[in-house]
Amino acid sequence: MLLNVENLRVSYGKIKALHGISFNIDAGEIVTIIGANGAGKSTTLRAVSRMVPVGKGSAMTCMGKDLLSFAADKVVSQLGITHVPEGRRLFGNLTVMENLQLATFARKDRDNVRKDIRRVFEIFPRLEERKSQASGTMSGGEQQMLAIGRAFMSGRRLMLLDEPSMGLSPLLMMNVFQALKEINRQEGTAILLVEQNARLALKFSQKGYVLENGNLVLEGDSETLINDPEVKKAYLGG
Ligand code: ATP
Repeated sequence: MLLNVENLRVSYGKIKALHGISFNIDAGEIVTIIGANGAGKSTTLRAVSRMVPVGKGSAMTCMGKDLLSFAADKVVSQLGITHVPEGRRLFGNLTVMENLQLATFARKDRDNVRKDIRRVFEIFPRLEERKSQASGTMSGGEQQMLAIGRAFMSGRRLMLLDEPSMGLSPLLMMNVFQALKEINRQEGTAILLVEQNARLALKFSQKGYVLENGNLVLEGDSETLINDPEVKKAYLGG
């Protein structure tokens, strides 16, 4: 097992966002968490990437190591877990190339860095065409590609993706998801995806969880969830 999460609790002040959720991800697996606005999807990713503190009794391990003993930067550099947040958070004044290079500052294998940049450009040819452009001036879809490319550069055991389909045209959405599949297949990168576009997310993944008001209420293989009458009614538009 790659990631095991038990009884994960997160609060923001008095607001309880996660009430003790448990889930797991195998190496190379694609897992999706679906849920309505405010269900706690982003919070789940923030907890795994150690961006928010977790409550008492929460336990998380990555390859058997206690994830809670790693600070956020070490989660990336030592465990290879990268987080592509909602809204992408690029350095808008920096070029595409500079954003990719910045993601590698903690890496010591400089030869591989060059190889990986070539890989990112193979996966997203659009980024190579735009490599000298300030990232803030690129389209939403191009910025999403860059955010994923940047995650690819910094570590690729597990990618945490927050609403990668947000704001993308159907065509670009397919491009981005195809690229993610390719990364998953070729590099064995596991993916934890949170999405409001539940149909797309479930089709893309092997396993899914349904999050409601900070609780996981349903889990199963994606095929089963897609055909579940309750899931259909609540998340797939009937
Ligand atoms: P969405 O699909 O709308 O992005 P989500 O499922 O990702 O929602 P979260 O962003 O994880 O949900 O939020 C879970 C709950 O925690 C919500 O009630 C939200 O208002 C609250 N919350 C999130 N971030 C903070 C914060 N920084 N301070 C206070 N409350 C927060």
